[in-house]
Amino acid sequence: MSVIGQDLGSLRAGLSATAAVCVPGDEGYDEAVRIWNASVDRRPSIVVRCASDGDVVAALVFAQRESLEVSVRGGGHNYAGFALTDGGLMIDLTPMKTVTVDADARTAKCGGGTTWGELDAATQGHGLAVTGGFVSTTGVAGLTLGGGIGWLVRAAGLSCDNLVAARVVTADGRVLTADAEVNPDLFWAIRGGGGNFGVVTEFEFALHAVGPMVQFALFLFSPDQGGDLFRFARDYVRDLPADCGVLLAGLSAPSAPFVPAELHFQPAYGLLVVGLGDEASHARLIAPISQALEPMVQMVTPIPYAGLQQMFDESAPWGMHSYEKAVYLDELTDGAIEVILEHQGKKMSPLSFVPIFVLGGRYGATDPDSSAFGGGRGIGYVVNISATTPSPDDLPAEREWVRNYWSALVPHAVGVGSYVNFMTDPDPERIRNTYGDKYTRLQQVKATYDPNNVFHLNANIQPAVST
Ligand code: FAD
Repeated sequence: MSVIGQDLGSLRAGLSATAAVCVPGDEGYDEAVRIWNASVDRRPSIVVRCASDGDVVAALVFAQRESLEVSVRGGGHNYAGFALTDGGLMIDLTPMKTVTVDADARTAKCGGGTTWGELDAATQGHGLAVTGGFVSTTGVAGLTLGGGIGWLVRAAGLSCDNLVAARVVTADGRVLTADAEVNPDLFWAIRGGGGNFGVVTEFEFALHAVGPMVQFALFLFSPDQGGDLFRFARDYVRDLPADCGVLLAGLSAPSAPFVPAELHFQPAYGLLVVGLGDEASHARLIAPISQALEPMVQMVTPIPYAGLQQMFDESAPWGMHSYEKAVYLDELTDGAIEVILEHQGKKMSPLSFVPIFVLGGRYGATDPDSSAFGGGRGIGYVVNISATTPSPDDLPAEREWVRNYWSALVPHAVGVGSYVNFMTDPDPERIRNTYGDKYTRLQQVKATYDPNNVFHLNANIQPAVST
């Protein structure tokens, strides 16, 4: 700590006027190290709140000179808490939030610390959007670098499928462009390979015409109806057009005005369908649901796309204690449904829930080799078993629920690997399994841009060793 104490002046001297350095006890430190998952307790020695590429370069040079572990914070949503290093230097990108939209070209650029709420607000001003997460406070950076699943995944593919360029600061302090023409190996790797290759200070996305109003439908079913729902849903989603988003979920019914009071917080299953067309076509799309099943609750309404993107914010508050594990399913087989029905009822916390993301559409039609994304394009579903408890004391039991549920589902899944953004404990076997044949290529790109594995607080790719 004495070396750091002496040298902070030299670090500060290399930063822009709007950047800041904080150490424990400084104003701004606690805010900078507060992340979404309160169960992660790591304290960086130094936080550099970066406002420019040059600030990121200065922070990286300093950290390596002082042999400090490096972490990078985008939106701070990572379940494993990889934004935080214990005792090292955290590069905090939250000041880098500039968003510019080129409505004619249908592209948007945003800084590495932007959240989805901020990007959506800017793009929706032009009736445009790119696939983003289901919770608006999530960072664009971490979500996109790992893949990016949201309401638009069937209509427009993953967030990373829509990335057209990025600016990346590498471990040795170079500021590089990555796109299809310039550093194409890096561009391939950052679309799915996570934060392994450098600090992305700017993202540029292709946008699509979306909203401003979209059509929303939510159906809730009792636990007894779960089997019928899932068997219906696997046939129903097969014939749906790409321009609709579909989510299945095992959850506790929300205490929303449209839900009868006696159902509030009671176990339930949900089917949510978002249409990007008009009300009439959405009505036709969802008609088979109430013809085949008898939902306990049904809510159908037009809604602003920006509002849809914030709809789950309250159900995922900051400061809770969380853990998750996910699997990819090719199909909702009878075996998988049986596991879901058996384990769903064992959750204890009303905040724990199991979103089952329905893929297909543009996601499925995208060339699997066009990016490093760890997941085949034939996968039908991502099942994310997610535990959340207000008290740390309740997390261990709920974590066991996740682990048991996951272990029972794995025999019906596409291996033990799954979406890297839904891994609280990404062990090496699961990471390799997730990337499959792409892992070796990722190791080579890692060796080119980060041979010393400076960026290892992530679903880590081991650099290839030259022979
Ligand atoms: P951070 O914790 O800041 O960072 C995550 C990782 O990315 C870390 O390894 C970090 O070092 C690295 N990183 C961050 N910024 C940069 C950067 N600029 N350059 C290089 N590396 C960087 N995922 C989905 O796909 N769809 C969803 O709908 C979805 N919903 C979620 C909802 C909640 C409530 C939560 C907690 C997570 C959700 N996720 C979702 C998962 C999410 O994609 C990951 O947690 C992701 O890591 C969050 O990114 P972040 O920037 O907020 O996180």
